[in-house]
Amino acid sequence: MRVTHACTARIGYIPGMQHIMLLAAVLVLGLGLVACAGPGRGAGHAGRFAIAIHGGAGVIDTDTPPEKRAAYESSLRAALTIGRDELARGGTSLDVCEKVVRFLEDDPLFNAGRGAVYTEHGTHELDASVMDGATLGCGAVAAVRTVKNPISLARLVMTRTRHVMLIGDGAEKFADEAGVDRVPNTYFDTPHRYEALQRALEERRREGKTSDSGAGGLTRSWHGAKPHHASEYRGTVGCVALDTHGNLAAATSTGGLTAKRWGRVGDAPIIGAGCYANNATCAVSCTGTGEEFIRHGTARTVSDLMEFRGVSLNSAADEVIHKRMTRDDGGLIAVSHTGEIAMPFSTNGMFRGAADNSGRFEVGIWETTGR
Ligand code: ASP
Repeated sequence: MRVTHACTARIGYIPGMQHIMLLAAVLVLGLGLVACAGPGRGAGHAGRFAIAIHGGAGVIDTDTPPEKRAAYESSLRAALTIGRDELARGGTSLDVCEKVVRFLEDDPLFNAGRGAVYTEHGTHELDASVMDGATLGCGAVAAVRTVKNPISLARLVMTRTRHVMLIGDGAEKFADEAGVDRVPNTYFDTPHRYEALQRALEERRREGKTSDSGAGGLTRSWHGAKPHHASEYRGTVGCVALDTHGNLAAATSTGGLTAKRWGRVGDAPIIGAGCYANNATCAVSCTGTGEEFIRHGTARTVSDLMEFRGVSLNSAADEVIHKRMTRDDGGLIAVSHTGEIAMPFSTNGMFRGAADNSGRFEVGIWETTGR
């Protein structure tokens, strides 16, 4: 009471001070409201942004030749730089996710777009999805064959149709109307994925497999790793971002599993499994054995744990990858609405990167914690 009284008394000595303070308060409030009502629909947090990317999880040979390792790291750094710089300029998380995933789709090192793995028939079928955390709008395509950048078609499904997922011939027809870049299926060919297919088919023949168990029905070891966990046979690319307007987005794109058959589709285009974003919680993109990520609704479960149990992003992501799922299933990248980043994986490696407005900028391949 005495303090209040003293303050009032002191203010009373300066004529007009109350008015100046009132004006300042109104100004501060006004600026706050303008910040919140900026281009995004999120709460906004002046200058705060965060981004994480991945290029697939799996058993990655620790004896990878230095020049190959350098190529992966340099591509991850380039992708991360594109995303970080655009976020720093005030770009939206959706634009950043699409741009970064397009870049990774165009890089033959990764299993998405050019460099996608082969189906058992020696062709490529690509899956992708995107989600807007501000609106819960989402779009996905599966088993597309001639779309150069499936992530962009997924975004057009979100923005130009009232549907969430288009597949196969229907998705190709939509691509005709949407006017996205098209390529012959052979555009996605690469020698290293072709060799992986030959090994997978040979393995399948030797095992006399008629049904699938793991990628291409592979069960034997390859370079000491279970083939269906080896990164030569699978992979995905993904990006999650929090922009300076407070909005989250996630994007995921993949060629699936080597020697896949029967129109197999994994988790990457399934909203809630391989991709999820919600401004109230987090944005998530997954990589690994798709069937397991579908079974566990992995991406959505991370968000649900945050929403319904009130846990942090890192404990939610760790619980799903390390407790609910099984070792070697894969990993995920996630960014929370407060800019926290999580990148857990249960394989021996995950191609990944993270950056934020504090100056954090890092890429990695191995290490067990994945942080
Ligand atoms: N999740 C992808 C799929 O199952 C593959 C991967 O990320 O390794 O299609």
